Amino acid sequence: MSRPADPLAAPSQAAPAARLEAPKDALARPLNSLRVSLIDTCNLRCNYCMPGEDYVWLPWDDILDVDETGRLVEAFTGLGVDKVRLTGGEPLMRREVEQVVERLATIPGIRDLSLTTNGLLLARHAEALARAGLHRATVSLDTLRADRFRQLTRRDGLHHVLDGIEAASCAGLGRLKINTVVIRGFNDDELVGLIEFGKQAGAEVRFIEYMDVGGATQWSIDRVVARRQMLAALEEHFGPIRELSENGSAPANHYCLPDGTVFGIIASTTEPFCRTCDRSRLTADGVWFLCLYAAEGLDLRTPLRDGASTGELRELIAGTWIGRTDRGAEERARLNSLRGPLYQIEDLRKDPHREMHTRGG
Ligand code: SAM
Ligand code: SF4
Ligand code: SF4
Repeated sequence: MSRPADPLAAPSQAAPAARLEAPKDALARPLNSLRVSLIDTCNLRCNYCMPGEDYVWLPWDDILDVDETGRLVEAFTGLGVDKVRLTGGEPLMRREVEQVVERLATIPGIRDLSLTTNGLLLARHAEALARAGLHRATVSLDTLRADRFRQLTRRDGLHHVLDGIEAASCAGLGRLKINTVVIRGFNDDELVGLIEFGKQAGAEVRFIEYMDVGGATQWSIDRVVARRQMLAALEEHFGPIRELSENGSAPANHYCLPDGTVFGIIASTTEPFCRTCDRSRLTADGVWFLCLYAAEGLDLRTPLRDGASTGELRELIAGTWIGRTDRGAEERARLNSLRGPLYQIEDLRKDPHREMHTRGG
């Protein structure tokens, strides 16, 4: 495909709100959504993400400071990114999380500024995050049973997560979402309970198929509950479910129960949606990944610290995006019966950027 007319015609810093013609990748996918990891450490050890005991962490000096994060996000927003999601590791373990939100909230062009958290520290941060300008939050909640929470995460604290969900609603972090990774034999009997919990909490529940991402060293296909199986279980309890029409690039498909409750399913494992994927990821040390499954990322920290201007950073980003052909989940799905964990522990130790908790979910 041809290169867009002039994707790099960056406006001067004096006119940051002006929109550029946004670059499209080699499959004509725009660059609209950026997930920014604030830290690679976490206060939980979810079995599907961090099953190990020891981890190799990113060097502290490499972690971008608040302004560096802001500068990189500004470079992206000038190229069409209008959705920014803060993630980790656990983003609320980053001491300056409110300052990062405050910095990003001043960037023109971001119409959706959200954060994904495990919720453990949310009760104590919710109000400050809302004041700083966060639009909305997604809380990961895989079970409503304290014993299962401990078994899954190797930590106690379900009650803190539930308090965090309540605090987020009270703080006005509207459109709250709950993410649930569904694992056969672990929590696949809780789908109905989680939907009922979401109704009470005023949150949209989104069920996620267990993915074979870096970090998921205990993944196997027989532990994946496919979208159609989730729908069958929910229909059996609630009655007929209607699929809602979709906005092209959203990862979740949305469904409506007979009483009007809306929920989502993210079927990345069995029915990947790479064809419309407009998402990329920035790690806490400034490495940019074009796909969740990509083997390598582009180091943006070094040019940033070497003094690259916003225009030069945009040139680098746009020039990389236009060559993007990634369709990681579709390629994994084609492996069929040969499919297993993406990496073994030794491979993850060689490069922590391969970990889901570093790359940001
Ligand atoms: N710590 C925060 C949290 O758990 O919400 C943010 C980072 S976490 C990596 C982001 C999301 O990735 C979470 O919703 C988590 O459930 C999801 N995730 C992690 N490993 C996964 C896997 N193997 N399959 C599907 N989703 C996964
Ligand atoms: Fe669990 Fe999120 Fe921590 Fe991974 S990063 S172990 S999903 S809380
Ligand atoms: Fe996008 Fe890669 Fe996920 Fe496919 S696997 S949806 S290309 S991030």
